[in-house]
Amino acid sequence: MGRVWNFSAGPAALPQAVLEQAQRELLDWNGSGASVMEQSHRGKRFIAMAERAEADLRELLDVPDDYAVLFLQGGATQHFAQIPMNLASPGDAADYIVSGHWSEKAASEAASYARVNVAASSKAGAYLHLPARDGWQLDPAAVYVHYTPNETIHGVEFHDVPEVGAVPLVADMSSNILAGPLDVRRFGLIYAGAQKNIGPSGLVLMIVRRDLLARPGRPMARIFRYAEHAAAGSMLNTPNTFGWYLAGLTFQWLKGQGGLAAIGERNRAKAALLYDAIDGSGGYYRNPVEPSSRSRMNVPFTLHDGSLDAEFLAESEAAGLLALKGHKALGGMRASLYNAVPLAAVEALVAFMADFVRRHG
Ligand SMILES: *Cc1c(COP(=O)(O)O)cnc(C)c1O
Repeated sequence: MGRVWNFSAGPAALPQAVLEQAQRELLDWNGSGASVMEQSHRGKRFIAMAERAEADLRELLDVPDDYAVLFLQGGATQHFAQIPMNLASPGDAADYIVSGHWSEKAASEAASYARVNVAASSKAGAYLHLPARDGWQLDPAAVYVHYTPNETIHGVEFHDVPEVGAVPLVADMSSNILAGPLDVRRFGLIYAGAQKNIGPSGLVLMIVRRDLLARPGRPMARIFRYAEHAAAGSMLNTPNTFGWYLAGLTFQWLKGQGGLAAIGERNRAKAALLYDAIDGSGGYYRNPVEPSSRSRMNVPFTLHDGSLDAEFLAESEAAGLLALKGHKALGGMRASLYNAVPLAAVEALVAFMADFVRRHG
């Protein structure tokens, strides 16, 4: 079997050019005669690569100098806990906006380390729309506001950065970082597991305003303290070297694609194509999310007759369309349209969907 169109929610598709470069360099990286995985993270070659990856990311997102960029581990889930450990002192309050599965989990993990105030939640509406900003009950004493700009499972996405005043805004961007232009200055801390839109799992990218690193947080081992990671250039201990390297290749690929404005335009077109196909199917396919809250990256949809699901999945896989099965919490289908998924993949998907209607209508 050759390469398929991959709609996996995560770990997700990587740009083919990135994989090909990694393949070419696997045995002899950068003239070293060894793989990037087989050499010291403190060696000259690795340090130069790591610095370039950071510089490329800073260029792509126009990250200001008063923000640190960290290459961490533990997955986004570990940082659900580690963020309150670092940003909140014992007894401090933190606001959480709950707009789907992942923000709900972030709030629940944080509750071990902060007085969590769920300032808004769309759970009662089955997470089919974003919690309207004018209803948020922010705690004036909160030391940060956490939200999840893109809910990977429920397929809802904030299309504007919410205004929260002077309180640092913390964002789990695991599934939409680098999906388009972003004003980093609006945030106190951005974090993202790499396996959706950056590289392999096991790497977490964090962009954090340096003044927040000076917060005392709570007593904890050095390995949990972001300030220690920043001071050590993300090499407090051995980093995920291969993940860092692949992330660097992805950043270079993004620059070669024209940067985030061009990528954002392409993502908009991809999502529009699929939503139009769903909405134009006369109810055969359905995406229940309120249109202004719909995600560019993750598109859950159902068939009008759930008894056709297994057939849809079997036929789509046979047609070279991988991983369309929906998350078990929602059932149905989900197509993830991350940066590495080209427009041609979405064109193939909508053609398959139309053909499926013709054959099973
Ligand atoms: C996938 C995902 C996570 C979980 O990431 P792990 O790296 O598995 O911990 C958290 N938040 C969002 C928005 C995600 O998409």
